[in-house]
Amino acid sequence: MDEVKITIIGAGVVGLAIAAELSLEHEDIVVLEKHEKFGQETSSRNSEIIHSGIYYPPNSLKAKLCVEGARLIYEYCEAHSIPYSKLGKLIIATNESELTNLKELYNTGIQNGAKGLRLIEKDEINKMEPNVNAVAALYSPSTGIINSHSLMSQLYRFANAFGVLFSFNTEVDFIERNKDGYVMGIKNNGYKFFSPIVINSAGLFADYVAGLVGIDIDRTDYRLSYCKGSYFSYAGKSPIKMLVYPVPDKDLTGLGIHATLDLGGRLRFGPDTEYVDAIDYRIDAGKRGLFYETAKKYIEGLDKEALNPDMAGIRSKIKGDGIKDFVIKHEVDKGMEGFINLIGIESPGLTASLSIAKHVKNIVDREIRTLSH
Ligand SMILES: Cc1cc2nc3c(=O)[nH]c(=O)nc-3n(C[C@H](O)[C@H](O)[C@H](O)COP(=O)(O)OP(=O)(O)OC[C@H]3O[C@@H](n4cnc5c(N)ncnc54)[C@H](O)[C@@H]3O)c2cc1C
Repeated sequence: MDEVKITIIGAGVVGLAIAAELSLEHEDIVVLEKHEKFGQETSSRNSEIIHSGIYYPPNSLKAKLCVEGARLIYEYCEAHSIPYSKLGKLIIATNESELTNLKELYNTGIQNGAKGLRLIEKDEINKMEPNVNAVAALYSPSTGIINSHSLMSQLYRFANAFGVLFSFNTEVDFIERNKDGYVMGIKNNGYKFFSPIVINSAGLFADYVAGLVGIDIDRTDYRLSYCKGSYFSYAGKSPIKMLVYPVPDKDLTGLGIHATLDLGGRLRFGPDTEYVDAIDYRIDAGKRGLFYETAKKYIEGLDKEALNPDMAGIRSKIKGDGIKDFVIKHEVDKGMEGFINLIGIESPGLTASLSIAKHVKNIVDREIRTLSH
């Protein structure tokens, strides 16, 4: 049977970042991707924001990897000429009752190490964004936007140049634990090979892949639910220059329908939150009214008819109530040495992709030292 030392399942931004990071020191790596190209799922269907790390519970992986990831991603963009812009962001309170939540967010952001945060009042908001309607705001100067496709292309080229093999149109549908590692099986052609180290970065299907190796995804709380987020683009001239977000829900299901700009200056609103049973990226044009009513609460002078259905993405949310952290786990306690699961890599997964990759590399380095003894 053929053997590959390290197998990565999934070529989204996370799988690509892991491949690029591991390729610096390791050889004999394959990335298996079921689509014909990299980045065809969630990594191409998001807001492309580099978050600063405000929202997440202190000491969570999300907080740590977001703050570190933002720093790494800006450095990476500079080093590899990847288009980005540090536009800055306002999280706004539109009435007095939201002020407490805003202050809590500020405190959380400071604890997490988010850079340059300031609570600002109406006068300063008016100077920054005259069309924004707010009584106060949390200003985050280090939040930015990135061309995520350029990031993925760079990671792909880099990993390729350092010897990583990419196998597209290759869907894993069988994994069997044996004494020294894992037998991997490919859908449709029956091909099987052996790998002592397997990294599951399969995004929306990471729970299914964990199930393939025999993990009970309900007992381990790995089962994912799908939370769709739709966007509407704005055809007119943007009345804002920065990213503008409302105060989010307490449970962080989403960050609230917010206003983002892409690198071409195009304004978009979204994503909303809608739990769905299946992956379906179509957008309900009937939501225009809801988007307009939400957006006009905090941005003045919008034209409803300029809002058009744009695109949708699907969040891979770990099932259950409350805020869930990223799961990045070497499954040693389940008797699965060498198997690393990445589950629930929802936002800020794009921002954190490079730090997630470093985190996974530390695990792989340790595992390889163990294997060689
Ligand atoms: C609406 C929305 C907005 C977001 N906005 C932001 C944002 O502004 N900033 C931010 O930091 N994050 C954001 N995120 C989160 C971010 O997009 C994700 O965290 C990130 O893209 C996850 O990348 P991934 O590589 O884990 O998953 P994916 O991009 O889904 O990649 C997984 C890959 O695995 C492949 N795969 C699955 N199963 C198999 C199999 N059996 N065999 C082979 N291949 C398989 C898939 O085809 C896919 O290519 C947002 C997410 C959503 C949904």
